[in-house]
Amino acid sequence: MILRVYCRSCSKPNKISSYASDRVELSKEKGEVINVKCKYCSKTYGYGVNDVNAENGILNLILLIGMVVGTVVIAKFLLQYIDKGGVYSMFLLPVGVSIPGIIYFGWLLEEKKRIRMFNKFRK
Ligand SMILES: [Zn+2]
Repeated sequence: MILRVYCRSCSKPNKISSYASDRVELSKEKGEVINVKCKYCSKTYGYGVNDVNAENGILNLILLIGMVVGTVVIAKFLLQYIDKGGVYSMFLLPVGVSIPGIIYFGWLLEEKKRIRMFNKFRK
């Protein structure tokens, strides 16, 4: 989850670096008015915490790549032993291969919840 404000002048998104999980926490950390200098048009405006929106961050993409790589690595590893493992490996393969996906989607749901929580609660 990342926090963004949209520039009043050019409407481009600017990131706010904070780990606040809601707008109350954010205002405690940054104050009632957050001054943000737009990195696109260099204009500075004061934004209220209600102008800040939570959105998906780049971490989602990194984790997606991690999930795909993890699935391939686990599948390769398990396939090496599938002949020796006999009947057990038949079960192990689908279980092992689905682990990175389960972790990823679990995390994604959690992230979605956090984003919804932040955006829902206005100060
Ligand atoms: Zn701007």
